[in-house]
Amino acid sequence: MIELRNVSKVYQQKKRQIEAVKEVNLNIEAGEIFGVVGYSGAGKSTLIRMINFLEPPTSGDILINDQNLRELNKKELLLTRRKIGMIFQGYNLLSTATVYENIAKPLKLEGVAKDVIAERVAKYLALVGLTDRKDNYPAQLSGGQRQRVAIARALAHEPEILLSDEATSALDPETTESILRLLMKINQELGITIFLITHEIEVVQKICDRVAVMEEGRIVEAGPVIDLFTRP
Ligand code: ADP
Ligand code: ADP
Repeated sequence: MIELRNVSKVYQQKKRQIEAVKEVNLNIEAGEIFGVVGYSGAGKSTLIRMINFLEPPTSGDILINDQNLRELNKKELLLTRRKIGMIFQGYNLLSTATVYENIAKPLKLEGVAKDVIAERVAKYLALVGLTDRKDNYPAQLSGGQRQRVAIARALAHEPEILLSDEATSALDPETTESILRLLMKINQELGITIFLITHEIEVVQKICDRVAVMEEGRIVEAGPVIDLFTRP
């Protein structure tokens, strides 16, 4: 479903080059929860940003559903991009918009019909357990609730893939647990493939099927979680 072939990313600073990602090969299969774990600076964000089309690799290829992104035109890229949703550590909600509007606005921009928008907002707010919060503003919600809104917003586009960039890193252990349970439910009930990056091995142990360990831009180990890390 997501394939990385020899992907490298070099950032040009004024005088020096930073090799953020080095010759990474990964194959994420449909329906799995795949995690990349590593310390700060390992290259995880760069990796997920490339998969989310936010930056092109310096070399190598990224394929989504066997389509090489290099070979797609603008329109095809846009269509493929719609298969991917993303959630972040900082939630990225609009503070001046209600929960309902936060989910509805991006759909409106995409040209989704008003009645379909209402249906989708209701469906995914129910799924994340926040139906009664639709008229609240983000500031009126706890961190865990804000992340649930961000998850509903991502799901409302009905993606095939959900990318998670340290989605639980700002949350306390109990809230982390409940968000991870929600992600597992999304994976199992909606069949959405999940690709996540984290610096927390516990996150990987709790929900990932397979994991890759990243160090200094390279994947140094990869395999089923039960082989790499024993569960607590
Ligand atoms: P992680 O997410 O694992 O913390 P990053 O992908 O953020 O790692 O960073 C990997 C390396 O690339 C670091 O050395 C970081 O400083 C560098 N880096 C990340 N983004 C940029 C950028 N936009 N410009 C220059 N260097 C960057
Ligand atoms: P946390 O759970 O992170 O400690 P808070 O203490 O801010 O979050 O909130 C506790 C509960 O009260 C949450 O369910 C939150 O949604 C609710 N809440 C907080 N402020 C408001 C508000 N102004 N209006 C409605 N609900 C609120």
